[in-house]
Amino acid sequence: MIQNTYDRGWRKNLTQEDIMMVFQEAYERGLAAAPTGKCADYIPELAKADPGTFGIYALDKQGRNLALGDVNTRFSMQSISKVITLAVSLKYRGFRETFSHVMMEPSGDSFNSILKLDTTSNLPFNPMINAGAIQTVSFLSDEFAFEDLLQFSRELCMDPDICLDEAVYHSECETGDRNRAIAYLLKSKGVLPSDPEKTIDLYFKMCSLSASAKSLAGLGIILANNGVNPFNQKHWLAPVYVRTIKSIMFTCGMYDFSGEFGVRVGIPAKSGVGGGLVCAVKGPYGIGLYGPALDRFGNSIAAVKAMEHISHRLGLHVFVD
Ligand code: GLU
Repeated sequence: MIQNTYDRGWRKNLTQEDIMMVFQEAYERGLAAAPTGKCADYIPELAKADPGTFGIYALDKQGRNLALGDVNTRFSMQSISKVITLAVSLKYRGFRETFSHVMMEPSGDSFNSILKLDTTSNLPFNPMINAGAIQTVSFLSDEFAFEDLLQFSRELCMDPDICLDEAVYHSECETGDRNRAIAYLLKSKGVLPSDPEKTIDLYFKMCSLSASAKSLAGLGIILANNGVNPFNQKHWLAPVYVRTIKSIMFTCGMYDFSGEFGVRVGIPAKSGVGGGLVCAVKGPYGIGLYGPALDRFGNSIAAVKAMEHISHRLGLHVFVD
């Protein structure tokens, strides 16, 4: 259902009807692609999602929105919480300290890989993969409790209803040995900033925050709007930190599909294995998507398909003027 529409912005010469049609086509393409994907099941609770679900929510600075499909369905943020963790670290601990614990290079490996951590480097490649997020969470865990990070998440997503999905959290705790292994490996190398069990518990909780496509659009527009919430003018994050986050999302946000997504879509984005995708679009616009059927990289298959269409047809690629 289209609830509201844009009346300007984006590629010149497009009418409101054209833009609505592009989103409608993108939604249909996403829906058609969903059956070719599969819900994550390595965290058993995630396998319970309906793989046919799909929603797109776009938001502009004036609060105008465009909503198609399941935009209020709640799902766990999973790796999208890594963007929030990084934002909090940059805001409260600064650039230099944050990047003394984690690098900012694409890894080219899967999100939960442990391989290069032991062969190439002591520090995780970037804050968007599990090892890097675990390191960043660990760094924050002495100063911030989960409740603090929950509050930051609500503010950054403009969604006061974000909460801990207990079922997903317990499912992660039961099956998260690989993440525990990462934390203990980092500890053995002497680089993990705090206690591994405390770190992992906070990491699992952040991954289990329940959001919707609408909440992700909120996060997207704050990032797209240089760290300012356009509705209350609160300056959440300095532009230099937002630039850092968007650059890392662009190069590392889509698992080992980040390079191809950068070429095809060209928008800073972060996905999670819960099926969410947040996009920070020039304009500024925030686009949040949800489709739990994943491709082989762990990205929502419907969301990627839809964003390819939207970016191409509306000229949203960062390298297209
Ligand atoms: N909680 C998930 C894990 O650590 C997050 C993975 C993701 O969304 O990329 O495996």
